[in-house]
Formats: sequence, structure tokens, C-alpha cells
Amino acid sequence: MAFPKAVVVNHHERPVIRFCPMCGSAVEEKTIYGELHPACPNCHWVHYEDPKVAAAVLIQQNGSVLLTRRIFEPHKGAWTLPAGFVNAYEDPQDAAIRECLEETGLIVKITGLVDVIGGREHHRGADMVIVYRAEVTGGLLKAGDDADEAAYFPLSDLPPLAFQATKKVLGKMD
Ligand SMILES: [Zn+2]
Repeated sequence: MAFPKAVVVNHHERPVIRFCPMCGSAVEEKTIYGELHPACPNCHWVHYEDPKVAAAVLIQQNGSVLLTRRIFEPHKGAWTLPAGFVNAYEDPQDAAIRECLEETGLIVKITGLVDVIGGREHHRGADMVIVYRAEVTGGLLKAGDDADEAAYFPLSDLPPLAFQATKKVLGKMD
């Protein structure tokens, strides 16, 4: 079965690791399982760059979808699903609920999985976005955190969208 892959290229800049965060020694590049990694010659700590994971919510009411307007670049002023990074040790569903509350003031419950979209769209972006379907259970609609507006839009009349992932979820890929 042909399954579409992420449409975006991976062009993030790798961070330069110079010192071991465990013991402070200068690290050296070392080949481990065929890949170069910064490694500590003193305590043998190895830096593995982990993927960044984001979680988003798709909330629909009466044919409209809840979007937030970004206050940060990239795509400042464009609209996206309520979303944010999953913290280490955090359940991605909890992250999606937390980010939605921070950005929209709405309390939601997760009701399903919409998609997992791979591909980092900018160097500070996520490598994958887990998109959950959610329902509002409480709260008052008020933008916050890294959004300055939160509003429902009919799918037939969407504002400028921020990310390919947003467009894919909303079926508006260009
Ligand atoms: Zn060390």
C-alpha cells in the first residue's frame, strides 16, 4: 500500500556539543553503531540527539475548527492547531491537553487519534506532530501563551495557515 510520507525536508541545524554535561570534560566525536556522536572520553557519556515531538488537538464544532494565531516566527500571524512540544516523561495526550489550555483557555478531553505527521518544517520545529481529536469540556475561549487569538473557523473559510502539518490535517495541502 502506498502511504504518503512527510512532504517537508529535514533541514534543521544540529547543535554543537562541546562539553560533557555530566563531568565537564571536552567531548570528542566517536563512531557508535556507524554514526558520529559527541562522546566523553572521561565518563563515557554519549550525546544522542533525540527527535522533538509535538502534540496538537483538532477540535471541531458545528463544522468549524478551533485555530490559534501565532505570535512567534516562523509564520507569525498565521493560524494553526493548538499545539506544543511534549515534555520529557510527559504523556503526549497530557501535552496536547496542557497546550490547548495554555493557548485557548479551553479544557478538553482526547477522543481519538487523527494522524502522526513526520518532518521538521523549521529548525526549531518538531520532527513529528501527534494530532488528537478532542472535545471541549470546560473553560472559556481566551488566547494565551504563544497565541494572541483563538477562534473557530469554518473549513470553507480558513485563515492563512502556518504549517504544512496544519494544512494536511485540515485537508488543505498545497
Ligand atoms: Zn563526562
